[in-house]
Amino acid sequence: MIRLRVVAAGLGAAVGVGFWTGFRSTSQVFGPFPFRGQTQERVVALTFDDGPNEPYTSRLLDVLDERGIRATFFQVGRCAERFPSTTRRIVDTGHVLGNHSFSHAFSHYLSEPRQRFEVDRAQEVLQRIAGVTPALYRPPWLCHPPWVLNTLHERRLQVVSGTFGHPLEIFQPPAQMMAAGADKIASPGSMIIFHDGREARGGPRHQTVAAIGPLIDRLQNRGYRFATVDQLLDVPAYL
Ligand SMILES: [Zn+2]
Repeated sequence: MIRLRVVAAGLGAAVGVGFWTGFRSTSQVFGPFPFRGQTQERVVALTFDDGPNEPYTSRLLDVLDERGIRATFFQVGRCAERFPSTTRRIVDTGHVLGNHSFSHAFSHYLSEPRQRFEVDRAQEVLQRIAGVTPALYRPPWLCHPPWVLNTLHERRLQVVSGTFGHPLEIFQPPAQMMAAGADKIASPGSMIIFHDGREARGGPRHQTVAAIGPLIDRLQNRGYRFATVDQLLDVPAYL
């Protein structure tokens, strides 16, 4: 009995380690999963996942537009249906719109037909709302098993990973703390991940919004400029 339990615990740990190894943001185990641009220049991409989510996405856009900085927004189809004018503004003002699935539901990634639907439905929604068909896809939770990569390959979508701006962002720690943390991890070619929403549910993002201005100041003081993900990876933004 004890031996069985040890075996079960061992198996559990192995699955856990395998999961972590396969799905962490820098993992290339299942195929190319770019998390940074190949450059020595001081240039980074600011990216925002899980929106649109108002009023936070519009406030972020105000900060970025005031400073003339273009960012990349990986949006959830269901959220874009909720705030279509925000999704349109992203494209109209020269930011880049990427696909981040239709419903951001983890269970949908475990079945191949369901995750195909997630990719395709989000493409339809974003196309209908913003008039562009994204060529960039960031999987929810950066979950990229082989069947997801196959679907993306078939759809001519570029899979995109990145580096989390702050590990505790979900708990919304003080903005200055997040700005300092993201400044510390930024290096040439970084694609820094923030969240203007939470999965498909929205929720408060005051501290994320407040962190972006100070982060831009810090990076600019270190000589950094800003690019969009398509520019960093040298791929098209839209199909
Ligand atoms: Zn997400």
